[in-house]
Amino acid sequence: MQGYILHVSKYRDEDVIVTILTPDALLSLYRFYGARHSTVNLGYKIDFEIENIVNVTISRLRNIIHLGTPWIGHAPTVMIWHHFIRLLNTHLRGIETVDPFYFNLLERLSRSLERQNPKRACIDAYLEMLAFEGRLHKEPYCFICDEPVEENLALGRAFLPAHTHCIYGRKLPFNETLAMLENQKSLMLDETTVNNLWDVLMEGM
Ligand SMILES: [Zn+2]
Repeated sequence: MQGYILHVSKYRDEDVIVTILTPDALLSLYRFYGARHSTVNLGYKIDFEIENIVNVTISRLRNIIHLGTPWIGHAPTVMIWHHFIRLLNTHLRGIETVDPFYFNLLERLSRSLERQNPKRACIDAYLEMLAFEGRLHKEPYCFICDEPVEENLALGRAFLPAHTHCIYGRKLPFNETLAMLENQKSLMLDETTVNNLWDVLMEGM
């Protein structure tokens, strides 16, 4: 079975509980001495087996193989990937059965990180997620005051459009930002805007 490690929490001295996103489930598995294993790391894609033990509530994680990516040695990219993974873990917390969309999203994002600005790649992935979840608001109406936004466009959490003064947000380029929401691509946005949107994303999914 394959999955992405969304969270690793210590249990007792060196054992860990690992949260893994597979194509159709979010699993919590127990790993003895997991803190010592180089294969158990946040954001890693792994191949693994599950061992079910009679009368033990949490199954065990076994035979782990790390499935590496070309960017794994590039620290800035790994750091951004970690941020995205933590946000996704919080977003999916408490869910057991998940749509394959989320696993496939990480597959695509991981490939994009090989060739794209990592923040831009994460923003595009997030836009895809908002669209999939039916949460993408494309119309320029402020979610705080309900009035149309004509110039001073900012985006709040979940990339909701707003007036800059209503959310004390940074002013974004109007046409380019609306085009981004329409096409779910940040292609037209400059690096400064991408950095601003990254800060909004860091507030939570
Ligand atoms: Zn407003």
